[in-house]
Amino acid sequence: MANSLNFSQSKYAIVGGGLMGRLLAVALARSGAQVELFDKGGADGEHAAARIAAAMLAPLAESAITEDSVVRMGLHSLPRWKELISELSDSVYFQQDGTLILWHRQDASEAERFAAHLEKNCRSNSDLSAPQKLNSDALRDLEPGVADRFTQGMYLPNEGQLDNRQLLNALASELKLLKVNCHWHTEVDPQELRQQSNYKAVIDCRGTGAKESWSSGDKPNTLRGVRGEVVRLYAPEVKLRRPTRLIHPRYPIYIAPKENDIYVVGATEIESDDLSEMSVRSAMELLSAVYTVHSGFAEARILEMATQCRPTLKNNLPEIRVKKEKGLVDLIMINGLYRHGFMIAPAVLDCALQLLAEGSSKTALELGLSMTQNDNQVEAICA
Ligand SMILES: Cc1cc2nc3c(=O)[nH]c(=O)nc-3n(C[C@H](O)[C@H](O)[C@H](O)COP(=O)(O)OP(=O)(O)OC[C@H]3O[C@@H](n4cnc5c(N)ncnc54)[C@H](O)[C@@H]3O)c2cc1C
Repeated sequence: MANSLNFSQSKYAIVGGGLMGRLLAVALARSGAQVELFDKGGADGEHAAARIAAAMLAPLAESAITEDSVVRMGLHSLPRWKELISELSDSVYFQQDGTLILWHRQDASEAERFAAHLEKNCRSNSDLSAPQKLNSDALRDLEPGVADRFTQGMYLPNEGQLDNRQLLNALASELKLLKVNCHWHTEVDPQELRQQSNYKAVIDCRGTGAKESWSSGDKPNTLRGVRGEVVRLYAPEVKLRRPTRLIHPRYPIYIAPKENDIYVVGATEIESDDLSEMSVRSAMELLSAVYTVHSGFAEARILEMATQCRPTLKNNLPEIRVKKEKGLVDLIMINGLYRHGFMIAPAVLDCALQLLAEGSSKTALELGLSMTQNDNQVEAICA
């Protein structure tokens, strides 16, 4: 998509170089634009939700808790991730071998409910691949490492994951190669940059850092943080091949296996902007739940316990908001990626690029991504 658009002669400022800001900066620079990127943290992304995420790309699993528009964005994004990653100079681990769902015997009725929910979603969206029930032989074939503890499971085909930290690093290297002016460790207010008329537009990708901007205007939309806690483990004795989710009434967890025996384990969703360290309760729950999936986690080494907040709008859906004001350059605000940021980022990127190039986005209409201009919902935004 980015290759077909031409942005030469245009200069953009992007504030926030986490997931969305970096993807957009690379795409715009590749299409001929002059780009300046500002982030309050460094190239490691230490303030970005993107650095802590598990980066699972799971439209069917997520369909249990989100709207059809987000699922469609997720389906659009899977093949786009392959393209975007193949265009980068540095390699990024990407896998599309499905998701495994497990549950302990006593939680079978919870699993039944989950399966029924996914099957219903597949009937209303034919692009989703139906979940497959696994008996003990099928489970052993698919994921031998858990077959001694579980006698059944469910397989969600086509779902994927990537290595978020490799991606952030690869995008930072690409920005260097493209000679994008990256102002790391520079906290800025997009409103102030708008006074500088040499930009065609200022693009606000600050994630939770943009809270005040979203709560102003005629139709304020509350932007909040939803706290998540993850443990990164080094577990050479565990051989899980794909992202695995454990259905559990109290401790539902996910385990995302990355390269080199690294596992990202997470669970929690807490309605809070609290960025303090992980609580003892969360650590105990995560670690004991992960041990019930595979005994090899007993000897795993804890590399990191981390917390971050997912940028979330009132309706838990992403939005692109355009502000046009006399005497100021346009402000494009992209936010609300919530717990699906990686899953939907390529779709949001494609819509944003269309909007910047053409003044409207057909793809946003097709996928159901909300776009507003000066607080009004618009079907096609005119530049
Ligand atoms: C624990 C956890 C697990 C997750 N797991 C998944 C998953 O499995 N799959 C999935 O799809 N998504 C997942 N996500 C969600 C995903 O990480 C986010 O949706 C995504 O990172 C949001 O991207 P963003 O670019 O909007 O914000 P961020 O990635 O947070 O980036 C925002 C950037 O803005 C910068 N910034 C803020 N204020 C300023 C300022 N004033 N000036 C300059 N820079 C500023 C910050 O430093 C940061 O780098 C998870 C998130 C968390 C926290």
